Amino acid sequence: MGGDLSRVFCIANQKGGVGKTTTAVNLAAGLAAHGQRVLLIDLDPQGNATMGSGADKRTLERTVYHVLLGLATAQEAVVRPPEVMYDLIGANRELAGAEVELVGIERRELRLRDALAPLADRYDFALIDCPPSLSLLTLNGLCAVHGVIVPMQCEYFALEGLTDLVNTIKRVHAGLNRELQLIGLLRVMFDSRMTLQQQVSDQLESHFGDKVFRTIIPRNVRLAEAPSHGVPGVVFDRNARGAQAYVSFGAEMIERVKTMVPSSGATA
Ligand code: ADP
Ligand code: MG
Repeated sequence: MGGDLSRVFCIANQKGGVGKTTTAVNLAAGLAAHGQRVLLIDLDPQGNATMGSGADKRTLERTVYHVLLGLATAQEAVVRPPEVMYDLIGANRELAGAEVELVGIERRELRLRDALAPLADRYDFALIDCPPSLSLLTLNGLCAVHGVIVPMQCEYFALEGLTDLVNTIKRVHAGLNRELQLIGLLRVMFDSRMTLQQQVSDQLESHFGDKVFRTIIPRNVRLAEAPSHGVPGVVFDRNARGAQAYVSFGAEMIERVKTMVPSSGATA
């Protein structure tokens, strides 16, 4: 996706349960609430972003698996779940096999980027929900985007895992995708009453400066309840604190992309 309008980001963190999928579906819904044309791509075989957007991963005919293997075009795999205002390319367990099937295929890291290119002009934003690993799937995600959004909980060990991810981003930037940058760290499931979380949050700000998003996503039970209803929290209960935070984060992202220098190749 290289069109001027389209901005492509992946939500990545090799740890599981840190809020990637919650961020992916709610940022998609939050951006859509601001009138943006959004495509969400589920790149995790667990298919949580698919189900959490209201599509049934078991009955989807075409998913990102077919797209990666060239069995369908990206456009053919796009669906619009009934209750959300964004488009989706879904995933299910089949995707776990892609890792093996892609070995030996030419440009295997670039399959997703190549497949998404024809959709560039149709969307203002594309978001990719990555699996909890630094696998070939995640590599496909990193090669297809302009930047990485890293959701993290403000816990003691959160900073340790970050080093691996930042190094991976640097490697991909150097070797495969000159456009790739770390856009920012998003503090999620935040509880300001916890002293440790506040301390880690302060540390993040002093270490990473403006790479830390201003918006903080609070721990909010409505966000956790939403997936069982098959909608993002932003759709489930728009007035809940967590939903409002994601709508604010959407606004922050819209502002942020205006300041991004296209294909600068400068920062990773
Ligand atoms: P990941 O995709 O990184 O594995 P998830 O987005 O699935 O993480 O989140 C893990 C769990 O935490 C889920 O049960 C989700 O509903 C819950 N969760 C995520 N963000 C929040 C939040 N801000 N407040 C409360 N629960 C949250
Ligand atoms: Mg997930």
